[in-house]
Amino acid sequence: MRLVVVSNRVALPDSSDRAGGLAVALDEALREGSEGLWFGWNGETSRRPSDSVHEQRHGKVSFATVALSREEFAGYYESYANRCLWPLLHFRVDLTAYDEEAEHQYRAVNERFARLLAARLRPDDVIWVQDYHLIPLAGALRRLGVSQRIGFFLHIPFPPAALFETLPGHERLAEDFAAYDLIGTQTEADAAHLRDYLAKTLAVPLEGGSLLHRGREVRLDAFPIGIDPAGFRALATAEEGESEFLRLRANLRDRALVVGVDRLDYTKGLVRRMRAFESLLAQFPEARRQVEYLQVAPLSREQVEDYRRFRLELEQLTVKINAQYGETDWTPVHYINRILSRATLAGLYRAASIGLVTPIRDGMNLVAKEYVAAQDADDPGVLVLSRFAGASAQMPEALLVNPYDVASVGRALEQARQMPRAERRARHAALYAGLCRQDLRGWRQSYLDSLRGTRA
Ligand code: ADP
Repeated sequence: MRLVVVSNRVALPDSSDRAGGLAVALDEALREGSEGLWFGWNGETSRRPSDSVHEQRHGKVSFATVALSREEFAGYYESYANRCLWPLLHFRVDLTAYDEEAEHQYRAVNERFARLLAARLRPDDVIWVQDYHLIPLAGALRRLGVSQRIGFFLHIPFPPAALFETLPGHERLAEDFAAYDLIGTQTEADAAHLRDYLAKTLAVPLEGGSLLHRGREVRLDAFPIGIDPAGFRALATAEEGESEFLRLRANLRDRALVVGVDRLDYTKGLVRRMRAFESLLAQFPEARRQVEYLQVAPLSREQVEDYRRFRLELEQLTVKINAQYGETDWTPVHYINRILSRATLAGLYRAASIGLVTPIRDGMNLVAKEYVAAQDADDPGVLVLSRFAGASAQMPEALLVNPYDVASVGRALEQARQMPRAERRARHAALYAGLCRQDLRGWRQSYLDSLRGTRA
């Protein structure tokens, strides 16, 4: 059986999109069989929609990519995917901006992708569609007569039905979901939300974890995504990671480093996180001069107004905390927008006594896992993690916090700062073992086994 992966962006070999673990995991999955095909957008925009597909082959795997027109990009990607589905699926109904024309473009792009892909499919292909940009793809393929197994994985959360139902035309998406054989989510909670929503909206019965819709079975299950913990750990101790680690430790002298690493996105809880650090300094004056907070936050989706507003708020808060608490020889908050190499990132995590990961809502959050993987087992740092990150379901040995309760996050930071080494080691050992039990390879294998096992 050939595996066909479809995603919004295609990570070509040697491209910078490969830095993250997901691209590598999908690529490995494609190389596992005798052949593989990866289909999606090439990241470019053209004046007019064009059906020309660029194909290139690297070993066993073909990469087939298409451009989007500027209109399609604006409607499908910037508006419907990023301004509407992204906030809504992260429970932010208040930021959800629905636009009818954008939904039209979103559907048109999915239809076009389906048409171009269908022409390339073989009878025994198994198709794996990635993420919220492409929810309607299976429905569009089915209308073209595609009967092969099609699976979907949602990398971000799914909210309770009461929130999702606020979206105009949400019933169309419910029908789209029902065209898949298997829908994977990051957590059991997401799977339960989606199951309940679909059963109610489509008025169909649930059987076990599955829906029965128009004579077809749609399975829904959680497949929490992982990382390659040993590989990441090796990065933290190999040359580049080690030198970053040593340089930072020397710079810090005996101060503890609190680190945050996130795309600059309002779901990451950065303003509240900054306030929580301020609250640590306010509640525990003895912590001042003993700790520094470094937030690394590459800019993201700058064309969206909500992101610009939130970025400004964060910058102002950083300046305010440093002005209020800073000393001539101590700057409490460091804030940079740079993208770092994987190895530098690994060395940075390793040098930090506290990993602070406090999204207000997150599908999984891989930074939490990377932070744990990078620690030295005999003297590890402490992970302070939001209960609202999908990762918290698998990481109960972290200090779990409610990011909305800013003062309590400040107290958790102090608890982490004071935590005895024996406790840190015990928590870290349990967390690391969890990373190994549910790693990235296991994620894709269990998903694909499950997809291939549908219609048994
Ligand atoms: P999201 O997918 O919402 O951005 P995740 O935490 O799941 O959040 O994944 C983010 C990925 O991006 C992680 O692998 C992390 O290492 C990487 N990343 C985040 N910030 C940076 C940065 N400044 N430089 C390099 N990689 C980064």
